[in-house]
Amino acid sequence: MIASVVGAIARKNFNAGLRFDSTQRSVLPISDGKHERLLYLHIPFCEQLCPYCSFHRVIFEENLCRAYFSALRKEILLYKKAGWSFSGVYVGGGTPTVMLDELKETLKLASNEFPLKSISVETNPNHLHEDSVKILIDSSVSRLSVGVQSFDDDLLRKMGRYHKYGSGEEIAQRLKWVNGSFPTVNADMIFNFPTQTNTVLQTDVETLLAIGISQITYYPLMVSDYSREAMLKALGGKVSYAREKQFYRFLSERLSKRYHHSSAWCFSQNSNNNTAIDEYIVDFDEYAGIGSGAIGFLRGTCYANTFSIKDYISLINEGLFPLAATKIFSPADKARYNFMMKLFSTSLSFRDMEDSWGHVWQELLAFRLAGALKMGHEEIRLTARGRYLWVVLMREFFIAVNNFRDHCR
Ligand code: SF4
Repeated sequence: MIASVVGAIARKNFNAGLRFDSTQRSVLPISDGKHERLLYLHIPFCEQLCPYCSFHRVIFEENLCRAYFSALRKEILLYKKAGWSFSGVYVGGGTPTVMLDELKETLKLASNEFPLKSISVETNPNHLHEDSVKILIDSSVSRLSVGVQSFDDDLLRKMGRYHKYGSGEEIAQRLKWVNGSFPTVNADMIFNFPTQTNTVLQTDVETLLAIGISQITYYPLMVSDYSREAMLKALGGKVSYAREKQFYRFLSERLSKRYHHSSAWCFSQNSNNNTAIDEYIVDFDEYAGIGSGAIGFLRGTCYANTFSIKDYISLINEGLFPLAATKIFSPADKARYNFMMKLFSTSLSFRDMEDSWGHVWQELLAFRLAGALKMGHEEIRLTARGRYLWVVLMREFFIAVNNFRDHCR
């Protein structure tokens, strides 16, 4: 009941909050010279397109992809010239490892230009082979995140992944082989597929435990409004939120025995708080979005680059930032965003909120009364119930982001 109410309120607020103004001229804020920020690079190319996917992606085409990577490097230099600096890089997609020579050159440029402490790269199971892994290790990649979703062959077939990436057993073998090659190897998994049974979920979890993978991100199935029909047709059925809660409880209990909660849905072997996770928006208060369709958040301004790859390349070649829309957050927006993101990592130190508690007292009170928060001397922590409520909140946040992307494409 409480989860349904939280979900409904979050859905309404996030969809309203992600309405950007594309009529105003979009400008990037001025840099303040600090460098504890993240550089997000978006690679929108995939060898084949999954019909239900809401990410900004197009079919791979070599010439266009090379021109795109070249523009990406120019955009990195535009940020450098404007005085921005970064301590981490996250490469997401699409499929970032679709052209390894271009990725390598781009990471080399970023490493030369900025004092990087971490580099995260997303990939797919078919790109886990000796040559690619060597290039990524040589490029100082500290975290490799592999899109697995499930090891169940029936589900992989429904998602159109079986013929692309192989059977569940083949994927498990590749993961086992690559685990240990980087400080963190993450497996992206999904729970609450319409046809997923308790047994299928338990078998997936036991496979991950047998591999001993260093990090697991277990997303709840997220269906954006625009892709709902295609996704549910492909996966065969409806999404049940009652089962989502039951599945999450199982995951949390089973994985907590061997892993630490890096976020409500990310489980890491390393209990170090600095372990990077997929949701870089939790690790970094601010991030620049580089590439077509990338979303950034710098100095209180949230912005999106153009979703047209051709326009993106042309604008960059003219020496312009390719912004399509911006939204300036009010102090109250910023406080609520901070409250939600920090608590997603399961704790919020009083220092993190500084003097902005006045903007979130209602949320604080409501979640405290719902039994979601535990107050300590220096921080607030999520309870087990709170972790599931934050799964609901973040599920709705990412669905709203996907709706925004679908709307812009
Ligand atoms: S799910 Fe992954 S591989 Fe499939 S189209 Fe989307 S980004 Fe590409």
